[in-house]
Amino acid sequence: MMTTLETDPEHIAISKSKGIKIDWKDGHRSEYGLTYLRDKCPCATCTGAHGTPPRQPESGNPFPMYKPVLKIVSVGPVGNYALQIHWSDGHSSGIYSWEHFRHICPCEECQGG
Ligand SMILES: [Zn+2]
Ligand SMILES: [Zn+2]
Repeated sequence: MMTTLETDPEHIAISKSKGIKIDWKDGHRSEYGLTYLRDKCPCATCTGAHGTPPRQPESGNPFPMYKPVLKIVSVGPVGNYALQIHWSDGHSSGIYSWEHFRHICPCEECQGG
C-alpha cells in the first residue's frame, strides 16, 4: 500500500540558532544544521533555475575567513506542505516543502552512506 508517511512530518523542532529537526510519520528523524539548510535553499536564485549563476562565495571580501553567524530570523508555514525560512542574511524566498526536507535529509541512510 502506498503511503505518504515519509513526507509527512509528525513533529518539527525549530531552533533559530541551531537548525531544524523533523520527526517523520514513518518514524524517520532528520536533523538539519543552519548552514546546511541555507545551502540547500530551493529557490530559483539559489539554484540558478532562471539561468542566473547559483549563489557564489563573495569575491573581493577583504576578510575571506570572516562569515557572519547565520541564523533563522523567522519561520512561517506555507499552506500545510512547506515552511518559508527568513535568514539573517536577508534571504527569504526559499520555500522548503516537506518533500524537499525529506530529500535533503543529511543522515547516512538517506544519503546512501
Ligand atoms: Zn534561496
Ligand atoms: Zn534521513
